[in-house]
Amino acid sequence: MKIVVLLKEVPDTYGERTLNLETGLAERAGADNVVDEIGERALEVALSYADANEGTEVTVLSMAPETATANVRKGLAMGAASATHIVDEALVGADLGLTAEVLAAALKAEGFDLVIAGNQSTDGSAGMLPTMLAEHLDVPNLTNLTSVTIAADGVSGSRASDDATVQAKTALPAVISITEALPDARFPNFKGIMAAKKKPLEVKSLADLGVDANDMTPSRTIMISIAERPARAAGVKITDEGDAAQQLAAFLTQNRLV
Ligand SMILES: Cc1cc2nc3c(=O)[nH]c(=O)nc-3n(C[C@H](O)[C@H](O)[C@H](O)COP(=O)(O)OP(=O)(O)OC[C@H]3O[C@@H](n4cnc5c(N)ncnc54)[C@H](O)[C@@H]3O)c2cc1C
Repeated sequence: MKIVVLLKEVPDTYGERTLNLETGLAERAGADNVVDEIGERALEVALSYADANEGTEVTVLSMAPETATANVRKGLAMGAASATHIVDEALVGADLGLTAEVLAAALKAEGFDLVIAGNQSTDGSAGMLPTMLAEHLDVPNLTNLTSVTIAADGVSGSRASDDATVQAKTALPAVISITEALPDARFPNFKGIMAAKKKPLEVKSLADLGVDANDMTPSRTIMISIAERPARAAGVKITDEGDAAQQLAAFLTQNRLV
């Protein structure tokens, strides 16, 4: 079985994160960029299955700036056998549509039985990529799984909603996305870090994948404006002189909060 795990590089959530108000993109240059934790959990799901099932091949796939090599290699140090890093200047500012098209082209080229993604990244936070990918690949999609069971002929898992827990199952090939309910990922150990230096890491461009980022026919998103969030204004302070309840009620009514 071949499992491909989607790893995204993101600005560290513990650091200062800022948007460039001219481009509308996250400031990545000065940020401490890391592998998104949810992607590491997705990799843990794949590696745990591989540990128990000989003959399983786990690879990682990332579309990220050129500077992300060390983070892609971290996937190899954790235990993936190989990695594909999609790098192209034309991908700066790529929207969900283009990202899905590019990752789908890479997955079609390398082949897969199962694709495991995070349910939502910590920077873009769209939560849509795995489903868009499944649509491109024309395979079933189980989203937001809180538990995962992989078998030779299919994948199943639980999906929690407000009212119920759904058990879902599908045949392979498939795309799934997992939530933070899945276990923490393993740390790369020294042996893994050394081994990662010799593992294959293939860098692909848009030309390699046959995708044209400037082709607007597949409906790309265009950012038309961006504005800084206004500074917080001071709140209204109500002093109780026997009429606090009336003042509160009047405030809530005026602001259409009741
Ligand atoms: C040069 C360059 C600059 C970029 N700059 C930005 C930026 O400033 N801000 C930004 O949000 N994005 C940036 N991206 C990445 C890309 O535009 C987003 O990944 C894409 O729009 C997906 O949005 P999302 O993370 O909200 O998706 P979600 O649907 O929230 O992602 C869900 C899951 O899909 C997978 N996934 C998502 N994106 C990728 C990816 N790129 N590679 C591998 N797996 C992925 C992960 O498993 C993730 O957990 C950049 C990419 C490149 C190449």
